[in-house]
Amino acid sequence: MTDVNLKDTDWQLVINQITDEVKPLLQHGKVADYIPELANVDSNSFGISVSLLDGREYTCGDAQMKFSVQSISKVFSLTKAFSILQDDLWKRVGKEPSGNPFNSLIQLENENGKPRNPFINAGAIVVADCVVSHTEDSLNTIINFIRELAGNKDIKMNHAMFRSEKAFGHRNAALAHFMKSYGNIESDVDEVLDFYFGHCSLSMSCEDVSRAFLFLANHGIHPISKRRYLTASQAKRINSLLLTCGTYDAAGDFAFRVGLPGKSGVGGGIAAIIPGLLSICVWSPGLDKHGNSLTGVKALELFTTKTGISIF
Ligand code: GLU
Repeated sequence: MTDVNLKDTDWQLVINQITDEVKPLLQHGKVADYIPELANVDSNSFGISVSLLDGREYTCGDAQMKFSVQSISKVFSLTKAFSILQDDLWKRVGKEPSGNPFNSLIQLENENGKPRNPFINAGAIVVADCVVSHTEDSLNTIINFIRELAGNKDIKMNHAMFRSEKAFGHRNAALAHFMKSYGNIESDVDEVLDFYFGHCSLSMSCEDVSRAFLFLANHGIHPISKRRYLTASQAKRINSLLLTCGTYDAAGDFAFRVGLPGKSGVGGGIAAIIPGLLSICVWSPGLDKHGNSLTGVKALELFTTKTGISIF
């Protein structure tokens, strides 16, 4: 990163070029439909938003369009849980890549109900339990927290998405009950699942998401509000987990191609950060076989290639 002259980087030009270059890919991904409501989206959409720590913002394409953030929201609930439980959190959830699909039950039995990491569904459900067990009115608490991070009071849950997730979330219910049997869920399972489905059902734009991730690019302090959300060490740990576990069981391929910590969701969004510089969000609903936005990964790969900036 040191041999790149940041002053010479024309961020708008870079993301305009990327938006043009990825267009032919839009038809190749497959929109998720295991939550039926997720399929109600235009697969041709593509948005990109870059937020710099100095307050500059650059957007292109459908960057203002709201999409279902899904697993990206796991980063916000993890931030909340980590700031509440501190390192005790890691007694209940691990820090290793799982190498299994995000909703797999297999590992959990062998590992006595302790999920491998906070980004697979089982791990995010334990994190959800931590938040539910330690906050009043948990769902509103997390929504307000995300609104504050994004600087947008209009961020809302999509109720149709929430109902669809709840109606078809049998695997997540199975994971939660299974972990309860090991004593790794403290609160009422339905309450925990409602919280989990609730934050996954939030609708946000690329612009919202890139702003909301800025604190992770700035050692835990949001550069605009100057509020500290995590210690520098905690922010480092979340970023490390994003790099190793943030993009399903393709985290190795993502790190290889993009070279940034990032979190994807089955709604087609991917958020990533460059420590000390910026956060970025891309969105395109067509997914690859691992559940990452096919065009989104390519766009991020082009971003780090064209700018010459990554964490390596
Ligand atoms: N709410 C989704 C689920 O639990 C999140 C999946 C994802 O984005 O990875 O299945």
